[in-house]
Amino acid sequence: MSENRILIVDDQKAIAEIIAKIAESCGYSAEVTTDAARVLERVDNWAPTHIILNLKMPGVDGIEVLRHLAARKSHARIIIASGAGGKVVDVARQLGVERQLDLAATVLKPFRRDEMRALLERLKVDDWCTPDALKAAIDDGEMILAYQPKIDLVSRAVVGFEALIRWLHPRRGMIAPDMFLPTVEENGLIELLTDAVVDMVIARLTAWGEAYNGRIALNLSNRGLRDMSFPDRLAFGCAAAGIDPERIELELTESSAMADPAMTMDILSRLRLKGFWLSLDDFGTGFSSLSRLARLPFSEIKIDKSFVRDCATSQESRLIVKSIIDLAHNLNLRAVAEGIENTAIQEIVTGLGCDMVQGYYIAKPMAAERVLQWLGDWGRRSQAINANQATRPPEPEAPSAGAPLGTMTYDG
Ligand code: C2E
Ligand code: CA
Ligand code: CA
Repeated sequence: MSENRILIVDDQKAIAEIIAKIAESCGYSAEVTTDAARVLERVDNWAPTHIILNLKMPGVDGIEVLRHLAARKSHARIIIASGAGGKVVDVARQLGVERQLDLAATVLKPFRRDEMRALLERLKVDDWCTPDALKAAIDDGEMILAYQPKIDLVSRAVVGFEALIRWLHPRRGMIAPDMFLPTVEENGLIELLTDAVVDMVIARLTAWGEAYNGRIALNLSNRGLRDMSFPDRLAFGCAAAGIDPERIELELTESSAMADPAMTMDILSRLRLKGFWLSLDDFGTGFSSLSRLARLPFSEIKIDKSFVRDCATSQESRLIVKSIIDLAHNLNLRAVAEGIENTAIQEIVTGLGCDMVQGYYIAKPMAAERVLQWLGDWGRRSQAINANQATRPPEPEAPSAGAPLGTMTYDG
């Protein structure tokens, strides 16, 4: 299967077929559908890397298709093709961007063949992120972990570090997980990656020894829990290294925790029985059934950073954050606000009763080699602040702008 798969969604079959021919001559695999309802089926089963979408089709409109793609967290590069006026296209672009879709280009119809060819050439996915390259990277130890601390708001103690994966590519430098995790998940490599992360976390706890006796959290796949043998493998790895399972926490997103009720409950219960901690990540972005949530053995809820970030400026986000904190407490869970970027946000979530925080304001994700030094600095600064009875947290590091691919630092 080609690395570049394009789905052409257009009710004008002749035009769609012309685009398919051009795409094939550029090295894409192409499929055409004149039926918008089929788009989601092809997204699920064929995973197109690119979608050309005609905005105006009888029956279903392109805006609706964009909404469905956003709900599925599609990573496809989307090209809007439209004969409709520029305004409609602008609205579609804005909606797509707000929903974090990759709106790569807009083509106004009628288009010239050479224009279309140039565009498709430009938008082709480079072949650095192929399943084979990813498997080799995992096997060859090119995947590394950055660590970001989580702080208790009352005691200011470091309650743990979250391990976040990066690909240290020999030519491209540090690559953020969002760039390669979809390919990992779509190609059956997630178990291999999770096992590699588990090994790295256990090795790290062993290497730190007495110098750090807290917890490390690791992220499980967004695709949900399907691997019934994972709890046993994890427990075995810990036992072999002499690591107490209480020192490992597993973060699972809200949407994946709600995915397959029976299997999720089975795996999560066994993980908890073995002593691992469970954290519900990105809360607020999925659709939790509250009765299921109450029965799942989580010990904390992490409020998605999109709500936390907007807390200082949006009354609605503040209300959402407050409701999630209250919900957590009513279910006897602890609430963590992630994505704390400045003092104003930290003060708001503190006022709303949040228990723990994580974010660039406290520390950006850092290399394993920096963690012990950072812990020492944090302890000293916290002591000094407590001694002065000040309420301000230690001065954070300067926030960094998002770095481009290849020049990314550990912080993402
Ligand atoms: P996540 O689990 O929600 O992790 C938090 C993300 O927010 C991280 O991005 C982190 O660097 C970033 N972040 C932390 N503090 C702030 C802040 O104050 N402001 C902003 N704007 N961002 C902040 P990162 O490292 O790029 O990871 C992205 C996602 O990739 C993670 O989201 C997680 O879903 C996934 N991921 C990371 N490591 C792994 C892994 O080992 N396995 C799996 N399956 N997924 C992973
Ligand atoms: Ca997480
Ligand atoms: Ca999160």
